[in-house]
Amino acid sequence: MLLKTNACVALLYTFAALHCTNGHDNNNKRSRILWYNAKNTHTGLGLSNGTLQELSRLASDLTQFRALLTPLMVTRVVGTQGHSNVRKHLVDTMEGLNWDVEQLAFDARTPVGHKTFTNVVATLDPSATRRLVIACHYDSKIDTRGDFIGATDSAVPCAMMLHLAAALHSQLSTHSLKVSHTLHSQLSTHSLKVSHTLHSQLNTHSLKVSHTLHSQLNTHSLKCVKRRILKKSLNGKEGREKEGNGGNSRKCNKKNRKKFWKSLLATWSDESVREPSARYYRRKGNCPGNSPVPSEPLANLNLSQVTRPQQNPKCLGRAKCCQVNQSKYKFTYIPDVQSDLTLQFIFFDGEEAFRRWSNTDSLYGSRNLAARLHNQPYPPNNEDNTHELHRMDLFVLLDLLGTRDVSFYSFFPNTQQWYARMLSFERRLGELQLLNSRPNMFIDEALHKTGIQDDHIPFLKRDVPILHLIPVPFPSVWHKLTDNERALHYPTIDNLNRILFAFTADYLNIVP
Ligand SMILES: [Zn+2]
Repeated sequence: MLLKTNACVALLYTFAALHCTNGHDNNNKRSRILWYNAKNTHTGLGLSNGTLQELSRLASDLTQFRALLTPLMVTRVVGTQGHSNVRKHLVDTMEGLNWDVEQLAFDARTPVGHKTFTNVVATLDPSATRRLVIACHYDSKIDTRGDFIGATDSAVPCAMMLHLAAALHSQLSTHSLKVSHTLHSQLSTHSLKVSHTLHSQLNTHSLKVSHTLHSQLNTHSLKCVKRRILKKSLNGKEGREKEGNGGNSRKCNKKNRKKFWKSLLATWSDESVREPSARYYRRKGNCPGNSPVPSEPLANLNLSQVTRPQQNPKCLGRAKCCQVNQSKYKFTYIPDVQSDLTLQFIFFDGEEAFRRWSNTDSLYGSRNLAARLHNQPYPPNNEDNTHELHRMDLFVLLDLLGTRDVSFYSFFPNTQQWYARMLSFERRLGELQLLNSRPNMFIDEALHKTGIQDDHIPFLKRDVPILHLIPVPFPSVWHKLTDNERALHYPTIDNLNRILFAFTADYLNIVP
């Protein structure tokens, strides 16, 4: 990483302007892509005090943290044994936690000849469309004066990521089953009260709730209709038994069910609406009984494929209620209960310059990976020009972490909200006395002209939302031989771990 001059700042602004233009041109196209848009409406879960307490407990295991850090505290210049040992440590740890791990090797020319670099990309659930990306670099800078360890640059950031994956292993594994605990419990109930909270969760999981149906779901009528009609249709005998159980149920069924169907008729103009309405009247005795049987219970929220049964031939041409087309009655509001979001770690190779920092002598790994992903359409052969980089909800880059008395700032307006979330977790954890002292590392200010060059740049240039967690000013040990074990301040590292755990759990909507 490098702090460049104002010339670099001007360069960054040029890129920003170009991106605005490109982004605008494609906006209409992209607006049709639900998974792409989901990142723009994503919100954190919101964590209770109890959850923050539990996450802090998991994060505060410094014994585990040190065990993961120690193998990283060696010189690891590209092409050396230390470098490949460290890569093996990263790969083994992540594979041991059952993540999908890719080692993406490539050759590049450097001022000291051709070198082979290997980015390590670990993904919790590779099948999930969207990713929260957390990244660092694992190579260390060449220093002819002696052994440069790069404790903050970036051994500690890499260890923080390994620690996060290890300490939250069971929670993340549950998440990778694609049904968040909260959402699952909500979906499993029969009440179908779509609370505001659940509604937002449904949206964030790309679950479409038609506006019309949503409003209907909020009515009391649905409960009655579901209990009386759908449940009864599924289990006719059981339904009839319940029907006779009490006055409330009967009143509800007769009055509100009628109201519900009338309401549907008023709002849904297509002919499919008339079929359920017909069933209502059929129950009034105007029509030969031919109980329709949905293939799935409503509670499973899997009605996208529900088709109505064949109409009883006896009905044809007789009662008005039967003169309906029953073939295409479909609920389409829950096509996919599975979560669409996962966690991805990128351990970049070749961040450091071999001679002197320049556009060609630095960021070897991130430049290669950003270009590679940009050239990979996602989904394959799509017509919307979306590619692998679009799968990145947010790219969180960790660098130069581990010393005490650090200050972070919001660097990018489009991720201001996520920076604010980090800040708020620091404040809340502090108020709950879950941090070592009250550090206030996250400054409530934006710095937009820093000119900081780091692994985020190739992604920033390609429009990926960036949250850069790097102290300003840089630690005093930066690029000095003193960036070693003695520079580290474990209470600060512990604080950062707790905040990162909270941020990640909040973003992925997981709870311990
Ligand atoms: Zn560095």
